[in-house]
Amino acid sequence: MPATILSGRTVRDALVPELIKKIEALSFVPTLAIIQVGTREDSTAFINAKRRFAAKIGVQEKHIQLPETISEAELISKIQECNDDASIHALIVQLPLPPHMNRDKVIAHIDPAKDADGLTTGAKVMPATARGIRELLAFYHVPISGKKVAVIGRSLLVGTPVAEMCRQAGAQVTVCHRGTPDLVKETQAADVIIVAAGSAGLIRKDHVREGQIVIDVGINTSSEGKMVGDVSREVADVVAMITPVPGGVGPMTVCALFENVLDLCK
Ligand code: NAD
Repeated sequence: MPATILSGRTVRDALVPELIKKIEALSFVPTLAIIQVGTREDSTAFINAKRRFAAKIGVQEKHIQLPETISEAELISKIQECNDDASIHALIVQLPLPPHMNRDKVIAHIDPAKDADGLTTGAKVMPATARGIRELLAFYHVPISGKKVAVIGRSLLVGTPVAEMCRQAGAQVTVCHRGTPDLVKETQAADVIIVAAGSAGLIRKDHVREGQIVIDVGINTSSEGKMVGDVSREVADVVAMITPVPGGVGPMTVCALFENVLDLCK
């Protein structure tokens, strides 16, 4: 039997009216600054999705586009400007940054009270992908407490916060990465597999078994130029539930980012 599709678009659309109501109840229009360094096509596409969503729910966004050649010090000074600007309530720096910059050093300059990506020490909110996955699972009544969850990927932005979110929800979490010797063994042992590796088709039929839940965070471009996840198509014929790409975790991440913005405004 084909897997049940866990649609992030459906969940997002269900959450939007409540989000709009909460934003309208504020005495001001929340403003999110999005700092982009360079013109990477994928970053621009992600930013455009955030800008469209902001317009839909009544959040003002300020897209600050800086040249690829800007120095780290200049970027930090722009971040400080946003920190000091009372008309900006939330701030994100679109990742990845150009190779000449130290990401952790740059991020550390974001005021935790305005950090909508939840990446700074002392951040007030959870990183958006982790929050989005938590809400997706809650919407479809998929409890992970007491379940074995395999998270593939351990980046600062995705894998690590997703693993932490699962631990907080009471799951028994195994984090896998490039150095994991037997990925098939780890994924076979899990009840829930969350893949955030950025490697198209990494998870195949032999990684999974009946009854599992697969959350595909990956965003890759296929050789035909289509957006694909980290999970091969045939996996959906085996497992119980799966998120599609596109239309799964992506819309949830955008929605959760703006829930973070709202939380920072409270
Ligand atoms: P990253 O490159 O920083 O981290 C990838 C992680 O995956 C690393 O920890 C690495 O060890 C692990 N990994 C890579 N190949 C592996 C393999 N063959 N076996 C086991 N582990 C492997 O990437 P990231 O920023 O964490 O993003 C991961 C993916 O998620 C990307 O495709 C990115 O585009 C996507 N993403 C999606 C959303 C969304 O909303 N859907 C949000 C952010 C990122």
